[in-house]
Amino acid sequence: MTYVLTIDGPAGAGKSSTARRLARRLGVRYLDTGAIYRAVALLLDEAGIQPSEEDAVRRALADARVELRDEGVLLNGLDVSRKIRTPRIDRVVSAYSALPCVRSALLGLQRDQAKYGSLVVEGRDAGSVVFPDAPLKFFLTASPEARARRRCLEREAKGEDVSYEETLSAIRERDRFDSSRETAPLRRPEGAVLLDTSDMSEDEVVECFEGLVRDAVRRGDVEE
Ligand code: C5P
Repeated sequence: MTYVLTIDGPAGAGKSSTARRLARRLGVRYLDTGAIYRAVALLLDEAGIQPSEEDAVRRALADARVELRDEGVLLNGLDVSRKIRTPRIDRVVSAYSALPCVRSALLGLQRDQAKYGSLVVEGRDAGSVVFPDAPLKFFLTASPEARARRRCLEREAKGEDVSYEETLSAIRERDRFDSSRETAPLRRPEGAVLLDTSDMSEDEVVECFEGLVRDAVRRGDVEE
């Protein structure tokens, strides 16, 4: 029996590291849906196509191939895992992700991943739109300040030059955009367990999640 666990929430709430570690502990696959949206944003941005040019967006998507591999995301056969994690892509991704034609083009790719076994899925609409029937849903959040601090630490650890103020304002802007878009806005899905991670360490978050998952398995809400 396979199952899907969804983890939604805003940028920097700790979804990626939590979802990746939780998947490893549970021995299931991890799906980073943000990476897919980022790959599409990279494709469109590099082609100079604006989010307002919907026909051009649609044509570019029809010709593009986005694939997910354990090692990362491939765009037309090339590994773009690093190129999608830049401040430029952070800035442009939300406007492309808000387009209904982008969202519908990526729905099948996300759902198909559940055919290959159990999944921990991380995203913005994983529990509400992509996998509405998932037996266990989480919504992870944290204050914008806590999220900006984490993003700065991550980037500093990679040797990048970062400004806390700029990171905070970029996070606020992305939140505003992701929550107010018409198609699949960022919302806590019905029935999702809410976890505010502002004052929690990554280890505490993973442990809390794992405990909740194991409880759900014991209750029979999730079949292993
Ligand atoms: O999770 P991550 O920060 O990598 O996501 C980047 C952006 O991709 C988000 O800010 C959002 O605009 C978009 N996204 C989305 N739906 C998802 C995952 C990401 O719209 N399921």
